[in-house]
Amino acid sequence: MLRHRSQQRALYSALATTYALTCHADRAKQARVAAMISNSEGKPPHPSTLDPLYRTLSLTKAITVWAAERLIAECRQRCGARGVFAVNRLLEYEGLAIVSNAAGGDNLLMALDAAKAMIGGIAYRAPQTELAEPKDMDLLDEQLWLGLAHSRERIMQAELAARIRRATDWDATPTEAWNDNIHGARDFVSVHGARLVLESMLAAVRRLPEEAAGALRPLCAFFAIEEIERGAAWLLCHELLAPEQVMAVPEQLNALCDQITPHVEVLLEAFGIPEDVLGVPISAGDHSMIVAADDAAGVPGQHIEQEPGAVAVRIP
Ligand SMILES: Cc1cc2nc3c(=O)[nH]c(=O)nc-3n(C[C@H](O)[C@H](O)[C@H](O)COP(=O)(O)OP(=O)(O)OC[C@H]3O[C@@H](n4cnc5c(N)ncnc54)[C@H](O)[C@@H]3O)c2cc1C
Repeated sequence: MLRHRSQQRALYSALATTYALTCHADRAKQARVAAMISNSEGKPPHPSTLDPLYRTLSLTKAITVWAAERLIAECRQRCGARGVFAVNRLLEYEGLAIVSNAAGGDNLLMALDAAKAMIGGIAYRAPQTELAEPKDMDLLDEQLWLGLAHSRERIMQAELAARIRRATDWDATPTEAWNDNIHGARDFVSVHGARLVLESMLAAVRRLPEEAAGALRPLCAFFAIEEIERGAAWLLCHELLAPEQVMAVPEQLNALCDQITPHVEVLLEAFGIPEDVLGVPISAGDHSMIVAADDAAGVPGQHIEQEPGAVAVRIP
């Protein structure tokens, strides 16, 4: 199945994002521990979006959950019928991601609080890297990824701050001015989060021995170029990318898929998740076909279709 480009693009995107977010979550947790150690009382950071560390931690929760929800749904779809059977637990994970949007603080509200503080310049300095000629740069250039991420975040913050200021200079109340720019704020905080995640992944790759870094580099490029693709309209409007660069993205992602394929097994094993923890038949063999019993929903269960070599699983 992985020979199909549609499967590759979706699943490698999920793998790249999962790696990137794992690198970022690890870095955020390390920062939290470091802050607790330096704090004489060993307490976690005070929950306030005015505190940059707390802001990063709450944003890490929001962007991780948003990505998890999207990626699990994509993985479920890529598994076809097997993906919808409860026994394979993809729906369960998807449900968990959906619930996590509200649990532990509403993700959107946490993200908007963080955006409001950053747009107001509270304990925030926009990233400063500016590229001289981004339109002449290679899509695979790490400096292009970082430069575009920095420029986009800096310009978005400045534009939003100016728009809100202009509105209140006229006759809008601060609440009205904010409300009219809430979508921009949501986009800005996503761009800020994606920049932090990219930086975390690049830092993690730099620390690895060459062999491991070699497997992760194409994945990192995949993550970065997909982020450029997502922001392509904005980047073109701001003349930070040339149309030729945007048009080259699909071919570049295909080429990266070819570089990732030989490393997929190792990249999956590196998560170190034991089979018995996964506990799902879908990962026990490619050919098992299981129809879960769900009498309550009126679905006849107990049907098992098996190809040679498949693992038989019967669900009561
Ligand atoms: C499993 C689970 C565990 C939880 N555990 C805890 C817990 O331990 N402690 C705790 O305190 N709470 C907990 N919660 C509650 C959770 O934090 C609340 O869901 C959250 O406070 C939002 O309240 P609400 O769900 O009533 O939504 P509402 O506040 O009514 O919001 C409804 C919708 O409107 C949007 N919205 C609301 N206000 C604004 C605004 N100002 N601007 C833009 N959009 C807005 C929200 O994003 C949401 O989409 C838990 C929730 C769940 C599902």
